[in-house]
Amino acid sequence: MSRALAGRPALHHKGKGCPDWCAGAHHCTANRLPSGEHASIPEVWLTDLGRLVATRYRDHAGNDRVELRVVLALADDETTAQAQARHLLAVTHMVVTRVFGPDKQEGHLR
Ligand SMILES: [Zn+2]
Repeated sequence: MSRALAGRPALHHKGKGCPDWCAGAHHCTANRLPSGEHASIPEVWLTDLGRLVATRYRDHAGNDRVELRVVLALADDETTAQAQARHLLAVTHMVVTRVFGPDKQEGHLR
């Protein structure tokens, strides 16, 4: 696995109140749009199976969230491809629930 930053490095043209991790410049819409938010530079992991891309956001109320994209090749066979996609969704839901479920909101991981 290798890690790569997507796009150009942060330009550090940050507005007032940007957190340290905010990429500023065109990534950050917190000071430009009514529903804008701070955004990090996406972190990209290139693995043997595909690409994972994570971007952190913070809205005006201070709520943080992360967006995760998973880009993988599917099987050529349609039935298998459908099963792979559904299995990925199911397993992702299970992991998200385990890591971010209601009893995990105070920073406790099992
Ligand atoms: Zn910002």
